[in-house]
Amino acid sequence: MSGPIGHLAYALLAARAAERRGLALARVIHANLSSYLSGAYLGCDVQTVPNAICLDTGVPVGHGPVTVARSPLTGGAVKPWTLSFEGREITPREIHDTFYGRAHLILGWSEREKAGVISWSQYLDYAADVAGDAIELFGPGRSSLSWVLGWMTHVTGDGLIKSVLDGLNLHLLDGKYTATNRPIQDLVTFNAIGRVELGLDWPGLLDQVAEAAVEPVQLHYMRCARSQGRLGAHFHEGWEPELEPLLRAVLAENHRYQKILNPRLVREMTVTTGSDGKPACDPALSSAAGGLSYPEMVAAADEAGFREALLEIAELIVDGFEKVIAKEERLLGPF
Ligand SMILES: [Zn+2]
Repeated sequence: MSGPIGHLAYALLAARAAERRGLALARVIHANLSSYLSGAYLGCDVQTVPNAICLDTGVPVGHGPVTVARSPLTGGAVKPWTLSFEGREITPREIHDTFYGRAHLILGWSEREKAGVISWSQYLDYAADVAGDAIELFGPGRSSLSWVLGWMTHVTGDGLIKSVLDGLNLHLLDGKYTATNRPIQDLVTFNAIGRVELGLDWPGLLDQVAEAAVEPVQLHYMRCARSQGRLGAHFHEGWEPELEPLLRAVLAENHRYQKILNPRLVREMTVTTGSDGKPACDPALSSAAGGLSYPEMVAAADEAGFREALLEIAELIVDGFEKVIAKEERLLGPF
């Protein structure tokens, strides 16, 4: 459930890299940071809904279509969660299959909609159109453009870490991004790199993700709206305006549920001092990571060059920004 940690780190490091390269867009991000951060996570991971309801406490648990059999809070029984929408009960699986590919574009389309996948070079044209439309149709403020830039960091970040795109060399324990090394990536990003090295206030950042207003441009780039603008002129397929009301309900649920997840995530990620005086993490994460202790995870991450890989992801994201800027001159600024 810890997707936001990685994606926020990619986005924040990309913002720094964009500033170092002197891109005018860095000012847009800086002035509209909440929209950027929210776009960088909920602008793409629209499967952020509960999977089940814990019967002991009545609170929602899980994340998207991954089935939760027992409550992670009490170990007790759960019942399936659904989104009530216009007299129908929509399952997390249906939400995922309907919307995930529309947000990620280069990956994650359901079997039924596989024809929707677009290539990286098509995606760069697509993103340039969306960014131009954010300025001209979804302005005059710059929060929608900042949201779109955040969304772009997510698409590239997922593409790299999930090996849809080339360019990232990382082998941490058993691969680039695996069930075993994912807790290591999250814990090291949250603690050693995020909190200690970068001084990040994770609770504050996660709150911004949940609380930022949904930017209507998200319905545009997910093509769940009427076709318009540059994107409508260049990409004729896939527009389904009849999905707009359901997507609006899903996006509202994404933000509502993220608010519930945030304190759990912070608790799960926070490293404490163990009885032996050494830093210790959540035992469930240790066992998911093959039994490694937190200090062993830090050592494994060091050995694999994980910190360098994070910085590399940020640079590759900004390479993507520059390619998009080359296609859409309004992105040169001034802002
Ligand atoms: Zn994603």
